[in-house]
Amino acid sequence: MSPPAALELAAEVAEALVHHARAELPNEACGLLSGTAGRATTFHPARNALGSPRRYDLHPEDLVRFMFEIEAAGDELVAIFHSHTRAPAVPSATDVRSAEYRVPYLIATLEAGPGPMLRAWWIESGGVAEIPVRVA
Ligand SMILES: [Zn+2]
Repeated sequence: MSPPAALELAAEVAEALVHHARAELPNEACGLLSGTAGRATTFHPARNALGSPRRYDLHPEDLVRFMFEIEAAGDELVAIFHSHTRAPAVPSATDVRSAEYRVPYLIATLEAGPGPMLRAWWIESGGVAEIPVRVA
């Protein structure tokens, strides 16, 4: 799979993941987005197995359960989500090093600031390219 031209999120999905990010404070939140044709229509909030304000790891039980649910619904994995509590929505060195899926990585920042709250990234072989996010 090559990087999609854009990551499209249903408005309810964007709301749900921001809600999950706030609910998980002070720790980073994470989850999966599924849908079809690169458009995310369902958000699957996961536990952060690391329980950390600076790092995340999708809880392995949640990961397996959601992958089954996504397949059973006839959907595909569209993006992997996590939040940054006090940094911009840009992949950290750890995010780049640990990226293992060929889907966009969507990051929400809860840091108050001028930058966009939601940004998506294609991470491959240590390289990072931004993918435009469209909420519609
Ligand atoms: Zn991160």
